[in-house]
Amino acid sequence: MLLKLLTKCFPNANIPSCYLEANKKLHGLGLGYNSIHACKYDCALFWKEYEGYDFCPECGESRWKRKDDKDKGIPHKVLHYFPLTPRLKRMYVSRHIAEDTRWHKEKQVDNEGVTRHPADSVVWKQFDSLYPWFAKDPRNIRLGLTTDGFNPFGSIGNSYSMWPIVLMLYNLPLWRCMKESSFIMSLLIPGRNAPSRDIDVYMQPLIAKLKELWEQGVDTYDAFSREVFRLHASILWTMNDFLVYANLSGWSTRGYAGRKHTF
Ligand SMILES: [Zn+2]
Repeated sequence: MLLKLLTKCFPNANIPSCYLEANKKLHGLGLGYNSIHACKYDCALFWKEYEGYDFCPECGESRWKRKDDKDKGIPHKVLHYFPLTPRLKRMYVSRHIAEDTRWHKEKQVDNEGVTRHPADSVVWKQFDSLYPWFAKDPRNIRLGLTTDGFNPFGSIGNSYSMWPIVLMLYNLPLWRCMKESSFIMSLLIPGRNAPSRDIDVYMQPLIAKLKELWEQGVDTYDAFSREVFRLHASILWTMNDFLVYANLSGWSTRGYAGRKHTF
């Protein structure tokens, strides 16, 4: 209904006529997502070598919810993965965004003792001195990763929680990098229960891509300098509450062995 209304309001605009066509267009722009099935108990993804499996390689539980034996069924859980590389490459197609990715090095004013952007932080500078090959090209992407659970149904009594994993681009100017429009949704982990320690299982597709971007990089066209360069990316830090911090880092943050540690 919305698409029909939009087509009527803007007859000259190229608006898709149905949901399927809209989806196809988004995929064409590199903005689609991949659905990866997961075990009911969060122990494994049906991904890579397990893609064709009907039963979980860890616990043996069926991948499908079936009414009877004839029913092919629907998957118990589906992870939505929004591929990172095409999203990063797409940013550099815009001359303005491509220029903004250098802001942290070329336009940021380094004032001793003043922190205005994460580029002023000790961690950033330490990272630069550890990996000079990465710091040499200011276009290399520095990311922050954040996650927390939310209830898509909005009712307080319902204990359902989904977990989006969102990436922030710290190359951008300070007035842009924390804007919602600059965030990249990377994974949407299905509910009903929080993934807790099994968040590692769900993060596999993202981690694999990040390793590739760190080690090999990807050829990217930069519309600002009008050249192709090798783009690398790295996660500098994660942002989360103290409970999620335990899951993401693999360290206990409560009880006798609970500890607080820094990078
Ligand atoms: Zn399992």
